[in-house]
Amino acid sequence: MTNKIEKLKNDLNSIPNLEVINNQSDVKRLSRDFYNYSPILKKQLDSCLADVVVRPKNIEALLAVSKICWDLSIPLTVRGGGTGNYGQAVPLANGVVLQMNYFNKVEEYYPDSGFVKVQSGCLMGDLNRVLGKYGRELRLFPSTWRTASIGGFIAGGSGGIGSVKWGFLRDPGNLIGLEAIDVNSNPKLLKLNAEESEPLNHAYGTNGIITSLTISTDFKQDWYSIVIDCEDFQNAISVIKLCTAAAIELKLAAILEDEIVDKMPSWIKREKLCHKLLIQSNFGGLKTIKLICKKNKLKLENLGREDQLDHEISDLVWNHTTLQMRAKDKNWTYLQMLLPLNEEFKLIKSLRDKYGKELLWHLEAVSQQGIPRLAALPILKWKDEKHLNEIMADCNSLGAIIFNPHVLTVEGGGLGVTDSDQVKAKQIYDPKGLLNPGKLGGWAEKEKFID
Ligand SMILES: Cc1cc2nc3c(=O)[nH]c(=O)nc-3n(C[C@H](O)[C@H](O)[C@H](O)COP(=O)(O)OP(=O)(O)OC[C@H]3O[C@@H](n4cnc5c(N)ncnc54)[C@H](O)[C@@H]3O)c2cc1C
Repeated sequence: MTNKIEKLKNDLNSIPNLEVINNQSDVKRLSRDFYNYSPILKKQLDSCLADVVVRPKNIEALLAVSKICWDLSIPLTVRGGGTGNYGQAVPLANGVVLQMNYFNKVEEYYPDSGFVKVQSGCLMGDLNRVLGKYGRELRLFPSTWRTASIGGFIAGGSGGIGSVKWGFLRDPGNLIGLEAIDVNSNPKLLKLNAEESEPLNHAYGTNGIITSLTISTDFKQDWYSIVIDCEDFQNAISVIKLCTAAAIELKLAAILEDEIVDKMPSWIKREKLCHKLLIQSNFGGLKTIKLICKKNKLKLENLGREDQLDHEISDLVWNHTTLQMRAKDKNWTYLQMLLPLNEEFKLIKSLRDKYGKELLWHLEAVSQQGIPRLAALPILKWKDEKHLNEIMADCNSLGAIIFNPHVLTVEGGGLGVTDSDQVKAKQIYDPKGLLNPGKLGGWAEKEKFID
């Protein structure tokens, strides 16, 4: 152990209200997330390890950790539930992993606006339970809502269940403000409004340690889980579009192709193995979806109210589809993309003709800047990087926008371009570049973005 790391550990041990974890098996576990969904990231990240993990119990302890990292120039990687799937919370340059699980309180609910102020380490399942008492619920949550934190979702996620109605986390109106701590010679608690919070939204914790967030919520509703059988994939696409264009409220709408359905838990197969549309709508929407199915001669099954079911369809959508496939065979991996508007089936058909059953289709309905669109999280059998790149290039050439889940940087997993405001915020809140080093691509060429 170097003198610097020894000093770091001694200094951390002297901070009141700070849990310090040195046990190697815990440090290893807390240095990982779900990056192993990508064979490429697995190769890059398996050896990454923090020097120490800390869990602050209050702001003072957090400020003290920030100060020590600044003084010793030690990398600092924030962690929520550690469910990210691109290695977002993996410490590339060792140093301290800072887990926010003690920051788990719902601080205030604002009845006039439906906003809620919540500490960043609060798990989304817990937050939703508290919101229920006020007749509210989360607008958006990932399929990992039981174990993922709200801070990790804002910093590392993008959307998920609810995106069919509310779009994506970075859409204006979802994040109202946040509080964060900087990494400076004299760290402080920053109180940022909606505009000032934007650069920290989906920045992988590279430009501030979020302590609390104010987010919008929705009226709580009873959501009904519906399964629709479809023999024809093109027809499934037409029907999901009819549902998302109808004047009804949906929480989610997804299509799983039959080969995927075959690998899902047996309860979803129902009577017949075929392509399935999985939908959650409110009670009013149910009637209209039944009518759409009648007109299209499709069999619909209403499984009942989601909160009263033994099995939840939220466990089969978004990246939980990939999770279920990988539970059967670890060689499955995945891609993420926005399909070209009205050319969805053309793209899928073309790729099916070329790749056959090597590439299986899973679609999710989303609202993109207010327009109903289809995203895809196709599942593919891993061969090698060349094969993966070829598939991505084919999707791209057919008009899909790829959100590559096999890369480490914020930009690589997004639109591939640097958000200069994120780099500028890092210059102010983390001028030594200690927060989650290696994840904000624009930081490596910061001169281009900072005046
Ligand atoms: C099976 C599966 C399904 C998934 N489904 C979805 C989905 O539907 N939608 C989706 O968007 N994502 C999804 N994900 C990815 C991930 O689960 C979510 O984004 C989740 O919200 C991350 O929360 P977390 O608490 O686990 O964050 P972590 O993984 O711990 O962290 C994520 C990122 O946020 C940063 N971070 C965490 N807390 C803070 C903080 N307080 N301050 C600053 N930075 C912080 C970390 O440094 C890291 O970069 C899925 C992943 C898996 C494995």
